[in-house]
Amino acid sequence: MLTKQDIRALTKEQLRLFFTENGDKAFRGNQVYEWLWHKAVHSFDAMTNLSKETRAMLDENFVINHIKVHHMQRSNDGTIKNAIKLYDNLLVESVLIPTDTRTTACVSSQVGCSLDCTFCATARLKRMRNLNPDEIYDQVVEIDKQSRLYHNHKLSNIVFMGMGEPLLNYKNVLAAIDKITSDEGLEMSPRRITLSTVGIPKMIKKLADDGVKFKLAVSLHSAIDEVRSKMMPINKKSNLAALLESLHYWYAGTQRIITFEYVVWKGINDTQQDIDALVNYCKQVPSKVNLIEYNAIDADGFQQASPETIQHYVKTLEANRIVVNVRRSRGKDIDAACGQLANKIG
Ligand code: SAH
Repeated sequence: MLTKQDIRALTKEQLRLFFTENGDKAFRGNQVYEWLWHKAVHSFDAMTNLSKETRAMLDENFVINHIKVHHMQRSNDGTIKNAIKLYDNLLVESVLIPTDTRTTACVSSQVGCSLDCTFCATARLKRMRNLNPDEIYDQVVEIDKQSRLYHNHKLSNIVFMGMGEPLLNYKNVLAAIDKITSDEGLEMSPRRITLSTVGIPKMIKKLADDGVKFKLAVSLHSAIDEVRSKMMPINKKSNLAALLESLHYWYAGTQRIITFEYVVWKGINDTQQDIDALVNYCKQVPSKVNLIEYNAIDADGFQQASPETIQHYVKTLEANRIVVNVRRSRGKDIDAACGQLANKIG
């Protein structure tokens, strides 16, 4: 049997061509494109301004591989975690994080992850494949629906902090963001989108070259090579100096400051030397720091530093005029917080 093509892999031009080649008007392609992206329907039957024959013709040739919310869990703080089933039955997770003023979608970019960060639950999952642009887009669509349903307003922000490393799925992540921000898609402002990366210098430079308009966050966790390499094996391939060079390039090209994500762990990065290294690193490129709470996973040797140590980090950064926020975790009771996404349903 011939496998049908994923219709959302086609550009608008290709869709227009499909219709002219099949004896219809090119304009039909625009209509279908609008149904597929702006209206994000799951079936050809939902395309109600097309004739029955046209819908049947589409159905013979194509599929819409819309994601399915396979399982949904709500935390007592309002956070929602979704297990998302993909067309090939693989699972990823997406999270809705509400605060008083906004709702944020935390989306996945890959099935599993190849990076092996020792403190992250997703690292335990083998990287199976990259997500397609439509699979990333659909996560945002579904979470926007949940935001409207449970919080009475539309989704306000998106962070690429779910499963996977977005810069190792560069093309599809950028294609998805293009659609999310387009007026033919979800019309969201790129300034409300943050891409979080482990820090891959070559791809960070490419982002700047490509003139992206979204924000960049880098998972730093230590500004000392020896310490960072132990937790994040990527640092052995490209060290802090190489990362910094790419961040200079990013800032020169975009004029947008970088957010460093940083967890403070007991006995790992909680000494004065660790703090001084962070201050020194931050001073070299326009940046701010988000100190994020450690979300326990069953990883040996990792324990959140004491509140006093974290306060000391805050005070020292502030004394050096570096903006710092302490980020509370959300959705911990349902394993929905940073680093806890591991497809454990139930
Ligand atoms: N691969 C990307 C995005 C996914 S991780 C990246 O590394 O940035 C999203 C954030 O959660 C990263 O800052 C990551 O370092 C952090 N994180 C991973 N495991 C964590 C844990 N157990 N507790 C708190 N944060 C964690």
